Order: sequence, then structure tokens, then C-alpha cells
Amino acid sequence: MNIEDLSIAIKQKAKEVGFSFCGISKVEMLQNEADFLKVWLKNNYHAEMHYMENYFEKRTNPVLLLENAKSVISVLLNYYPEDKIDKNKYQLAKYAYGKDYHYIIKSKLIEVIEFIKLIGIEVNARNFCDSAPVMDKVWAQKSGLGWIGKNTCLIVPKAGSFFLIGEILLDIDLIYDKPVENKCGSCTRCIDACPTNALIAPYLLDARKCISYLTIEHKPEFDEDLDLHNQIFGCDICQDVCPWNIKFAKQHSTNELDIDKNLLNFTNEDWQKLEKKEFKAFFKNTALERTTFERLKRNISKA
Ligand code: SF4
Ligand code: SF4
Repeated sequence: MNIEDLSIAIKQKAKEVGFSFCGISKVEMLQNEADFLKVWLKNNYHAEMHYMENYFEKRTNPVLLLENAKSVISVLLNYYPEDKIDKNKYQLAKYAYGKDYHYIIKSKLIEVIEFIKLIGIEVNARNFCDSAPVMDKVWAQKSGLGWIGKNTCLIVPKAGSFFLIGEILLDIDLIYDKPVENKCGSCTRCIDACPTNALIAPYLLDARKCISYLTIEHKPEFDEDLDLHNQIFGCDICQDVCPWNIKFAKQHSTNELDIDKNLLNFTNEDWQKLEKKEFKAFFKNTALERTTFERLKRNISKA
């Protein structure tokens, strides 16, 4: 099979296993991103996410993740839910409504790799979904799937930003897609809506102020006067206000990402009364499981 046909077949397979979009880019050293990351880290915008300082070379040069890496296949999985938690109640980031997405994406990526090998192509491949230092949004952008918006999310033309990202790194050449134009234009809705001013400039996030970081990654107790603005795990505010989501986000079709009806009906009082035993049973194999019960309670106390 020639590389044109193989590239088309891979994209068809990605759709067949349930991914919403698939694009392909050529492996290269991410020099601009490396320069940006150095300054971002130097300014401590990564807060206590010290793992961002690790594997700097691998993060910006995929050849160090897979010998002779030539191509990156980027895939997106829609997670925009039909049933959403009522706006007046404590909020969870929508990606955390259902089962932990890492397992869902990984198993689909493995299906795509097996498909390539079944065709008879000799290939070395690695799949990633937050599992290694890979700049997933950058590769998705390079693969022509969207642009990185002023809220630092990947925005897919006519589809929005509620997409999970995965990648496959391969040591074979494929046909590469072209990046799309950035269409944020003069809009600043995400920056204006951020309740903690964490978007300190277009395309620049100070994680120390970001509710998503604070509710998930931040381990110590909070300052007395912190207000989490109703968010108890993650934060979607800068995505919810984005016109590309308001106009184009469509409900996903991955059942495992659906919210449990009991959780949908949780009142704030239910959250406040939640006990450790219930937490463990209820949130097994979900993103919330990775936070601790104590941290969730801490978040609730500031929401
Ligand atoms: S996730 Fe929330 S806190 Fe973080 S930048 Fe977006 S709106 Fe601001
Ligand atoms: S809200 Fe506006 S500026 Fe922010 S990401 Fe969306 S289009 Fe871009």
C-alpha cells in the first residue's frame, strides 16, 4: 500500500473506532514551543506541576520518545455531554463526567496501531494519552485539526474545543496535513470570563490562578479568601463562553463518557455530606478517583 492510501486508511480506521477527528503531522523539533515553555517555566506559571520541568528534551523532540520517529497521528474524541449538571449546582469539568477517558482513548489507539500492523506494514509505534511528555495540543494543531485559542485550548473549526486528545508516534512517513488558520480574531470572551484572571494575556495561562489547576493538581490547603466560583473539579468557564462551542459543540456518542444519573441529580448538600466510603464506590475508574476524597472536600469548602 502506498503512503497516500495508508494515510487515508488510518484516518478511516480512526473514525471507525470512534474518534471524531484524525490528522497527521511530520515529526520535528518543536523549537518555538521549547522557547515558549522555557519562559513559562521560568515565570513559575506551572505552579507546583514540577513534572512540567522534567523530560524537557523529550517533550520538545519526539525522536527521543521513539527512535527514528517520522510521523505523529493526532486523534480527537468529543466529550461534550447531552446531560449537563445544572448551572446553579457545584460543577465538574465535563471531561470528568464519566469514566476515566485515558483507558477509553488508549484502547482505541491500540486498535489503530493493530490495524496498521495487520495491513502488513513494518512499523514501530507508541501511543500516548497524557502518558508521556507529549505536547498534544501542538501536535493536533500541526496535524491540521484546529488552532490553539486564547484560552489555550485546541479549537476545532465548526466543532469547538470539547475534545480529548491522543497521539500515535510512528517510524514511517505518511502524508501530512496542513495547520488551519487561527480564528480567534478580536474575540476576548474567554479572557473576560475567567473569574480568577488566570488568562493573564491571550494564549498565556498562569496555572497558579487557574481553578482547573487549583482543584485538581494543587495539594496544600487553600488560602482563606480563595473563591472557586462553584467549581469543585476542573473548570470549563473559558470553554463554555467560547463562541465556537456555543455555536458548534455537539453531543458526544461515547457511552462511557456519560454522567451517572445519580451524580447528575446530586445536590450541593449531597456533595457536602459525601463520605469517604461512598466517594470510593461512586467514583471508581473516574477522573475524580485520581483526586483524593480529602482534596474534593477541600474544594467543596471553597466553592
Ligand atoms: S479553566 Fe477556569 S480558571 Fe482556568 S483559565 Fe479557564 S476560566 Fe480561568
Ligand atoms: S473565547 Fe474567543 S478568544 Fe477565547 S478561545 Fe474562543 S474564540 Fe478564541
